[in-house]
Amino acid sequence: MTSARRQERSVIVTGGTRGIGRGIAELFARRGDAVLLTGRDEENARAVADGLSRATGARVAGLGVDLREPEAIERMAAEAGRLHGGIDVLCANAGIFPGKPLRELTPGDVDEVLDVNLRGGILCVRACLPALERAGRGRVVLTSSITGPVTGYAGWSHYGASKAGQLGFLRGAALELAPYGITVNAVLPGNVRTEGLAELGEEYLRGMTAAIPLGRLGETSDIAAAVFFLASGEAGFITGQTLTVDGGQTLPESLDALAPPVSGAGQG
Ligand code: NAP
Repeated sequence: MTSARRQERSVIVTGGTRGIGRGIAELFARRGDAVLLTGRDEENARAVADGLSRATGARVAGLGVDLREPEAIERMAAEAGRLHGGIDVLCANAGIFPGKPLRELTPGDVDEVLDVNLRGGILCVRACLPALERAGRGRVVLTSSITGPVTGYAGWSHYGASKAGQLGFLRGAALELAPYGITVNAVLPGNVRTEGLAELGEEYLRGMTAAIPLGRLGETSDIAAAVFFLASGEAGFITGQTLTVDGGQTLPESLDALAPPVSGAGQG
């Protein structure tokens, strides 16, 4: 008996040129889906896509899309339809995380983070809606964060607001799109080893690793696996939900809670 081949899906991954998005694009491509990945620079996006295509044998295309530009987002949705015949899965992943103390935040700083992380993601879903509806089993997976929805971090208040805002959007969108068979879910990564995270410095990475019960930073493949599951047929009855992928980082009540238990100690 031969097992039936899963049908190729058309998948968009925003921010697929590096980091978590590149990991997501690679996993879908390795599993035989057709991928359109985006970044701000068209030439770079195409080069990354060509590399993934050669490595996986899948159809991978790259497009320059700045999420601050609504017309570019519309072009992205049209291009996925033209190249890959529709859109089955949208991974709205691109995001920025520039840290700055609240006292120093300018209106421009706030606008930039909200425009890319929150408004950009919402506009991506809106632009892809007609094609996702036609797919009959459309999937939207947002990359949010533990920062904002679950935890706080001094210096990243505007970022946390953008990531928590994504979840407000997610819940309304999941209800609105359920009648069309479209599910909308989010992954909440903890600290994941990416180019963007590395830019925060060695000291930051060391401190974060020490705070993770599983003893390591996340890899992009850890997040990609969760996204792939939420986009799968098996996850078809899950919508409006979040999946935290953080090595247990959000579990401890205090630093003491990470230490090995002392036998006979009183409990709180
Ligand atoms: P990264 O390495 O900095 O990559 C960011 C990606 O977003 C790049 O592909 C970049 O493309 C794209 N991008 C940036 N600004 C854009 C814009 N204005 N328009 C369109 N695309 C833009 O970041 P990452 O660490 O992989 O993070 C990816 C997502 O995961 C973000 O939403 C972030 O908030 C979330 N996240 C990350 C972590 C972590 O620990 N890494 C933890 C929690 C959540 P170009 O540079 O090619 O333009």
